[in-house]
Amino acid sequence: MANTDSIFELRGVTKYFEDTCALSDINLNIRNGEFLTLLGPSGCGKTTILRLLSGFETPSSGDVLLNGQVMNDVPPEKRKVNTVFQNYALFPHMTVRDNVAFGLKMAGVDKGDIAQRVREALAMAHMDHLADRRPGQLSGGQQQRVAIARAVVNNPLVLLLDEPFSALDFKLRKAMQLEIKQLQRKLGITFVFVTHDQEEAFAMSDRVVVMNEGQIVQIGSPKEIYEEPASLYVARFVGDINILDATILSSSGNGMYDAEVEGVPMALHSKRAFPENRDVKVLLRPEDLRVHRVAEGMLDEPHLLGRIAQTVYKGATVDLHVQLDDAHGGISLMASEFFNEDDEEIIYDAGERVAVTWVDGWEVVL
Ligand code: ATP
Repeated sequence: MANTDSIFELRGVTKYFEDTCALSDINLNIRNGEFLTLLGPSGCGKTTILRLLSGFETPSSGDVLLNGQVMNDVPPEKRKVNTVFQNYALFPHMTVRDNVAFGLKMAGVDKGDIAQRVREALAMAHMDHLADRRPGQLSGGQQQRVAIARAVVNNPLVLLLDEPFSALDFKLRKAMQLEIKQLQRKLGITFVFVTHDQEEAFAMSDRVVVMNEGQIVQIGSPKEIYEEPASLYVARFVGDINILDATILSSSGNGMYDAEVEGVPMALHSKRAFPENRDVKVLLRPEDLRVHRVAEGMLDEPHLLGRIAQTVYKGATVDLHVQLDDAHGGISLMASEFFNEDDEEIIYDAGERVAVTWVDGWEVVL
């Protein structure tokens, strides 16, 4: 089906390397102008998708389309697609300026034009003041900026970035994430970014494609992926999650269910439909849990009882690890609560008796 919004499309793409199946029946539309991130653990097939887009690999079956044209056998240099690699791949003996100009020179672009475009690309990457240095005289972050300037100087339709920040320290990585995101907005071209870091994916992307073992398991905005994970795998991969056992008893309409959660009768709210007597999992993020001192008196609302196992001070928040009573499955939960200096209430001693509830809203029930 033609999709005018999509710039790249993978249609039923499968990729084998000898008998290793790296990708299995991948269907993906990449929208024009979006920041799309492929997220998943090592070996799940992220790089293989990038290499199919750039033309360094061909699909074993299925099609890769760029602007509606099948590209399967079109070589990399004939696609208006550039890649920024993990290791930057700069020419060590050339200056920054010559590194950025290289592709334009090879393409036979007019000299005056080259000078102008290289100047613009270097200014955009905040590297104009270091144009005469060689890569060996630059920091990792600066080399990364040069690699990006070189990749955008010939106005590609799509920029592919394969874990470009993996060699950078934590602070620089954060700064570069913001820079790249701003750059993508400014240039208005499609970026396809690969990472195994969930926070990085969330910080930068319009949409995230979560992968596992050669398959796409969910596509959505960072908010959708975090708040409405489609499976336990996705829920666990993107942040901390508490998983409770429950049984759906009956439906009272509008997504409301009477249920038993870890042995306690409770109402659940789910966007999915369940038959009666279905065993399910209830997924709750740490920030959605509330911990109460049992000594405060009986809570009106249904709750799970347990003891504080550990309190972890995080600065702005405190993680409360709670070991539920055996009557509630004896499982460990983690609640994350905001901390402020005047609020001593959320400082608990190990072993204190507590009750756990969670905020009203739609629970994720799978
Ligand atoms: P990482 O985050 O570690 O880079 P990835 O998600 O990018 O991993 P890919 O590099 O796409 O994963 O690899 C997917 C699978 O295909 C892996 O099992 C890998 O071993 C295999 N694979 C990739 N390239 C080749 C190749 N050239 N020859 C043989 N097997 C390969």
